[in-house]
Amino acid sequence: MAEMKTYTGGCHCGEVRFEVTADISSVTSCNCSPCQKRGALWVFVPPESFALRAGLEDLKDYQFGKKRIHHLFCPQCGVGAFSRGSGPQGEMVAVNVRCLDDIDTGTLRVSSFDGKSL
Ligand SMILES: [Zn+2]
Repeated sequence: MAEMKTYTGGCHCGEVRFEVTADISSVTSCNCSPCQKRGALWVFVPPESFALRAGLEDLKDYQFGKKRIHHLFCPQCGVGAFSRGSGPQGEMVAVNVRCLDDIDTGTLRVSSFDGKSL
């Protein structure tokens, strides 16, 4: 059941804060090398559904491979709460659902994405 809601979230220390409007009834677990190590659960939204509220100047960018995706993270606590990149549908933001406030990840439907094969 698709349900669009607005959530707040951020990194662990609170430097990075954002708001996102998304349907998180289904989230994505990716098996590519950084996602596997990070254990992130993703939801993908267009840039207009995402608003960074704090931490823009502090974010560090990690890129690898084809460097299509900016894996942004907080240099203070190390948490990567979201990434930015461009895909077939244009610019998108991947939000780490584990970084949303008051979220019970045990209730989410997780689908697997075979990022390792890309
Ligand atoms: Zn932080």
